[in-house]
Amino acid sequence: MPELPEVEVTRRGIELRLVGRTIAAAVVREPRLRWPVPRAVGALAGRKVRAVRRRGKYLLLDCSDGHLILHLGMSGSLRILAAGSAPGKHDHFDLDFGAQVLRLRDPRRFGAVLWTTRPPEQHPLIRHLGIEPLSRALDGGRLHALTRASRVRIKPFLMDGRRIVGVGNIYASESLFLAGIDPRRAAGRLSSADCARLAAAIKRTLRAAIRAGGSSLRDFVGSDGAEGYFQRRARVYDRAGKPCRRCGAAIRRLVQGQRATYFCPHCQR
Ligand SMILES: [Zn+2]
Repeated sequence: MPELPEVEVTRRGIELRLVGRTIAAAVVREPRLRWPVPRAVGALAGRKVRAVRRRGKYLLLDCSDGHLILHLGMSGSLRILAAGSAPGKHDHFDLDFGAQVLRLRDPRRFGAVLWTTRPPEQHPLIRHLGIEPLSRALDGGRLHALTRASRVRIKPFLMDGRRIVGVGNIYASESLFLAGIDPRRAAGRLSSADCARLAAAIKRTLRAAIRAGGSSLRDFVGSDGAEGYFQRRARVYDRAGKPCRRCGAAIRRLVQGQRATYFCPHCQR
């Protein structure tokens, strides 16, 4: 599943190549995605892409009179291809810019292509998203404030997108290792110092994954390659029984909220 780093790498790829360009045609081959693709999407020709932003795992293509909202769902990817590239079976949506085409491939059709003429921050899918982990809004003080009164354990706490967006399973495990925090601790019991280390670790982990994604890309502006590349260098994720890269103790696996958690019982307290 595309995670925040893949979506951010995708955003940068689109921004680099498509900002300032005018849409020549929008082609909806399959409107039955997670939500029906609105008819207005088919009539986007003539609009210029002014900016490409990301909120959580949503991509926002700002045009002069509205915003295209894209989500990659479970299996989606966006690529920029040369004009005239023949679409495959799962290529459900194109934004044609003349010389190049932005193409959505989404075999499982859990992705989204939506259009809004209102501020996208007020869109029902976006309004309730938690804070951006790479923004200044997330720091030790904010994390400490967010965790007060919470009785949830810190690992599932981090993965709840209503509080902080985009900290997926692998990134939560890796961040807690970097911060030296046991994933079983109650969020509300973390100290200010714990929260400062953890906020920094989340940013460091996501930035490393974005760098890995950027270096593993070719014509794909977003692909599963980013997570795969990052995963090979993981410190704890998917390494149960293997020696901790820092202390040599065996990495442990446990299940929290139906998701696997990996941690070093010696380095994480
Ligand atoms: Zn260790």
